[in-house]
Amino acid sequence: MPQTLNKLRAKLDRDLVAAPFSSLPEYKSITYHQGLGKMLGIANPFFRSTEGPQGRHTLIDGKPVLNFAWCDYLGLSKHPDLINASKAAIDAYGTSVSASRMVSGDTPLHRELEQEIADTIGVEGALVFVSGHAANVSTIGTIMTADDLIIHDEFVHNSAVVGMRLSGAKTMTFRHNKLDLLEQVLREERAKYKNCLVVIEGLYSTEGDIPDLARVVELKERYGAWLMVDDAHGCGVLGNTGAGLAEHTGVPGNKVDIWMGTLSKAYASCGGYIAGNRELIDALRYSAPGFVFSVGLPPSMTAAALAALRVVKREPHRVARLHANGQLFLREAKARGLNTGRSIGIGMLPVMVGATTRAAKAVSKVLERGINTSLIMSPGVPVNAARLRFFLTCEFTPEEIKHALDVTKEVLGA
Ligand code: PMP
Repeated sequence: MPQTLNKLRAKLDRDLVAAPFSSLPEYKSITYHQGLGKMLGIANPFFRSTEGPQGRHTLIDGKPVLNFAWCDYLGLSKHPDLINASKAAIDAYGTSVSASRMVSGDTPLHRELEQEIADTIGVEGALVFVSGHAANVSTIGTIMTADDLIIHDEFVHNSAVVGMRLSGAKTMTFRHNKLDLLEQVLREERAKYKNCLVVIEGLYSTEGDIPDLARVVELKERYGAWLMVDDAHGCGVLGNTGAGLAEHTGVPGNKVDIWMGTLSKAYASCGGYIAGNRELIDALRYSAPGFVFSVGLPPSMTAAALAALRVVKREPHRVARLHANGQLFLREAKARGLNTGRSIGIGMLPVMVGATTRAAKAVSKVLERGINTSLIMSPGVPVNAARLRFFLTCEFTPEEIKHALDVTKEVLGA
């Protein structure tokens, strides 16, 4: 008997030992991939430090590179208006608000920024979070419940997916931009649930294409669903004045129930926003955990984003140049036999490769020749649909774009 008890105790003791972190699947996966990379002679394409100022010209490992791997679409991160506004905000308010805005972290700058965002999109209000990721997670996680249905494009961002999981709602996916499939799910499933949310993106960050917004609006109205558009890559980029997907497609902003955007890409700051009608914004202001229980956006970042929105309006040539660069990239890539997939040629463009190892090798080879791009691979995109991703800024010259494409073509042997 004591022997049996001892065995039981030994088993319990064993079960109580904390597992080493090396047993985590995440750790195993990363060591496996790094080992594989080493074996194939592929340099780690991630976490490359850019030294010196960020910009289309930067330094990696001490060598000058043309940087196609960042999202400063409008070249605003070194714009004097943003820098001066940021510095003035630090002088006026300090470096941090050090509290949730609900308790004491609110400033007039936050309110001004939110009004400017709402006016730009053409909706009643907006709420600024410390990151776009937090905005998506918290918003979807707050407004949707286990009684509800979320239908989303297969390529929506991780932050939306995490928010969906948090909400406990039933989720269903439709193939990228296949709106007949979206309609089919709405027709067959909508009536079984209390609320229904359709989630799409403005400019898809791995494809460079956009949805048919007018049709999605028509569908969500017909089937009584809310529509959320993650315009993280579209805000400041799409539309003649950079107002985003609504402007690009000619659909009024207030036809979409929930707009999400980031302040960290075209607006060269940090943080994210949700914009929509007054009731939505009030509900989130008092209940979204990533807002209520998190610090307010720092004054310097708030002021930079506000200045950015104003510069975009005052200097329309930036959006126009970005669009011209995209069309040039598209034409010149095609002329070289490079496959840009479904990209509409605005803001970001993929060059399709296929196998992950081939794409990973290509990313390090183009970098050796001074072109910094990013590797997009599974699970971000389907297996064997790996690609090099080129983010454009309005600052690239036509010669720089053509040179990057010449190098890419030579490396891929296209
Ligand atoms: N949505 C999309 C489509 C994104 O690409 C990103 C950022 N990569 C986010 C949301 C999150 O935004 P942030 O970087 O501001 O957290």
